[in-house]
Amino acid sequence: MNRRQGLVYAALLLACFLISVSAAWTTLGTQFDNDVYDFLFRVHPARPSEPAATVLGIDEQTLRTTRGGLRSIRPILAAAAPKIAAANPKAVVVDLILADTGLDAAEDAALEAAFRTLPNLVLATDLAGGEWEEPIEPLRRVAKAVGHVHSLPDPYDNVVRKIPLERISSGNRRHFALALEAFRLAEGAEITESPESLEIGRVELRTSREQGRPLWIRYRSPESTVPVVTIHELHGDPAAAAKLSGRVVFLGITAQSAAQDRHMTPYSFGQTMPGVEIHANAYDTLARRDFLTPASNTFELSVCVLLAATAGVIFAVFPGWRAYLLAALLLVTVHLAPSIAFRMGVILPYAPLLSAAWLSIVFAASYQYFFVRRMLDRSEAEKERYQRAIHFVAHEMRTPLTAIQGSSELMGRYRLTDEKRNEMARMINSESKRLARMIQTFLDVERLTEGQMELKREPFDPSEVIDLSLERARPLAERKQIRLDLGVLDSAVVQGDRELMEYAVYNLINNAIKYSPAETVVTVSGERRDGQFTLAVSDQGIGMDEQELKSIFHKFYRTKRAEASGEVGTGIGLSIVDQIVTHHGGRMEVSSRPGAGSRFAMILPVEA
Ligand code: ADP
Repeated sequence: MNRRQGLVYAALLLACFLISVSAAWTTLGTQFDNDVYDFLFRVHPARPSEPAATVLGIDEQTLRTTRGGLRSIRPILAAAAPKIAAANPKAVVVDLILADTGLDAAEDAALEAAFRTLPNLVLATDLAGGEWEEPIEPLRRVAKAVGHVHSLPDPYDNVVRKIPLERISSGNRRHFALALEAFRLAEGAEITESPESLEIGRVELRTSREQGRPLWIRYRSPESTVPVVTIHELHGDPAAAAKLSGRVVFLGITAQSAAQDRHMTPYSFGQTMPGVEIHANAYDTLARRDFLTPASNTFELSVCVLLAATAGVIFAVFPGWRAYLLAALLLVTVHLAPSIAFRMGVILPYAPLLSAAWLSIVFAASYQYFFVRRMLDRSEAEKERYQRAIHFVAHEMRTPLTAIQGSSELMGRYRLTDEKRNEMARMINSESKRLARMIQTFLDVERLTEGQMELKREPFDPSEVIDLSLERARPLAERKQIRLDLGVLDSAVVQGDRELMEYAVYNLINNAIKYSPAETVVTVSGERRDGQFTLAVSDQGIGMDEQELKSIFHKFYRTKRAEASGEVGTGIGLSIVDQIVTHHGGRMEVSSRPGAGSRFAMILPVEA
């Protein structure tokens, strides 16, 4: 691959990377990643451990057995408080919005008195219309903290995978999540903040303020869920109270009919979980310090770039099956990576990695396939041209050889007159010279190409070269009834090999005559301007198209029109001309139109 092809290859790989990353960030990609996350979540469940929280639910039965049902929430809480306090929990979180006053002052007073007995009480608040609905002041006073109840259901599938540890109202008032406040109190620690992390005592959470400090909830598996006790059970069953002891109690509505904040979780398979249980799981995640952290965008993008680059290198460097084997290994790695990362607590999205790897591999493989094919086609074509040229040369050589053979045989067999004998000797001599010249030309091309040919460096006048070549070509032109004209002819001094230059100029004139019909004009000119000598040969012949112009200096190349013209040729001449001109520090310029003629110009540097 040359530099340009390399750049194109790299640019296309970059495009693969961009396409894959943008595809991964579409709704489809995001949903795919969500599903994979849930799958991994179930495949790699949280480490088994003693639950740190217990849900104390106000369920259907509790409501049914209470006068007033849902309207009697405050009496229900007040009645349960002494039982809870007696069980000696670490903290009590009340996941109910107590923002308005009760039916009568006595009810509120009773609740306040009951709450006073609870250790580390956390009350709930939520954002409504941009502002916080805080608990009424008397209750607020007895609480150790107030935490918010918000979770972050996914906008696409409504599954709650994380909660925001921090929410800020439009009035710029901030609350931490219920679970975090409970954790702080249970740990007896302070919260230290930085834009990228939260520290609660010795626990550090890498969660950025800019993203609302998300906490990925490590839900307990269905085999060891957060225990749920109902208030009804608490009143009747002493074993139920034991489940509260030493734990953080999350008190809230679990009744299907009454809890509005029910959501899906990665475990739920369509079943919803009441909000209070979600918060208890969030607390449990904190207490177990079992954190999942998403890979940063920079990391994710770097991995995708790396994948595209690796795919590119694999197919550019390794041949055949080796490249496919390595690509397969790369794919296996990519498919396993998110699972391995998940076990280490890192959420690595599947969609961008997968699409980057697949797209780049498919692209790189097909590019290399077609690239190699093209090279093969080209070399096949070159071989064919070479064979044709050899064939032609062999054929050309046969003519002088036959003449030499015939003459020498005649001379040996018969007594010939001196005159006849001399004539034959002359013929043998000239034909062998022609043969030698042909062989020489062929060898010269090879040597010129390989840079082995020594170039003479002597001053000569290109106008003289033109004159001489014109004279040599004149008989040829006359035979084809073509007029040979001389245009401007300046004198100049060029440093180089006069003989080679003559060969080159003669070749151009010869081609012009060869590829032109009768009754046309071939014009040769030599003009000196701005330290350059432009030697041009123009004809009114068959011409060439744009595409052909690109190849005429390649060895053995002949245009279709030239082949069809019936003129024999090898396709070598111009390649030699080009070499000679290049060796003289000059360059070739060709303009041509099919059917309208061509102009070949050598531009040579001249001595001042
Ligand atoms: P050839 O032995 O075929 O003449 P050259 O190397 O001299 O080989 O030229 C290469 C090809 O360039 C020719 O076969 C012909 O197709 C094309 N060509 C060269 N000179 C002319 C011209 N004056 N007009 C049209 N085609 C030309």
